[in-house]
Amino acid sequence: MAISPRILGELIHTVNQTIEQAADEVAELDRAIGDGDHVVNLQRGLSVLVEQSDDISQLEWAAAWQKIGMICMSKIGGASGSLFGTLFVSMAKSAKDKSVDSSVFAEAFYAGVESMKARGKTEAGQKTMLDVLIPVAEYLQQHSQSDLATVLTEVQTIALQNMEATRDMLATKGRASFLEERSIGHIDAGAKSCQLMICAIAETLLSLDKS
Ligand code: ADP
Ligand code: MG
Repeated sequence: MAISPRILGELIHTVNQTIEQAADEVAELDRAIGDGDHVVNLQRGLSVLVEQSDDISQLEWAAAWQKIGMICMSKIGGASGSLFGTLFVSMAKSAKDKSVDSSVFAEAFYAGVESMKARGKTEAGQKTMLDVLIPVAEYLQQHSQSDLATVLTEVQTIALQNMEATRDMLATKGRASFLEERSIGHIDAGAKSCQLMICAIAETLLSLDKS
């Protein structure tokens, strides 16, 4: 079943609120093993996305993702801005001229995460946001035909478990890698923000699915 991009307005607002509520917690994580700016970077991008959410939700999926990606790249800044930008621009490319249903979405998200890996020269296990995004992308690709409510619930569990798992990892990418062994014992800020955003989106989609 094709999904309407009109839901993007609500999703952007939900994600913005979620990051707002968790801002102190995420800032603290990035202060511990990064330079502390991750949440401020993210909020700068999200505030522009909120401003433009009405326009964005009138677009087709590929155009909407392209626009979101360009805003991420130009407004978020830092390593995460170019990574989030790459995710959405690559999703736009993958979904171009397609009617977006759950399997096209899963394919686009998988392609987007693959592009992030290439852009960041990062694999799973290096204590970054990709430790959350890779398993979610793999799960979605394997289960794009499964019951939506089950998938949305499972995605939240996968995101939570993999975010938590970054705590014990040694950082070998990003600023946290400068700390070497001292990076162990802290959750990665990008993994946390991605988990929060994924869970917020999944919760909203679950409530729409029920209504
Ligand atoms: P910066 O590190 O430039 O200050 P941010 O603070 O906005 O950027 O984002 C930091 C987050 O970006 C990290 O917590 C990590 O999840 C992610 N990150 C940084 N470098 C990479 C990389 N090469 N590959 C994947 N993710 C990365
Ligand atoms: Mg930072």
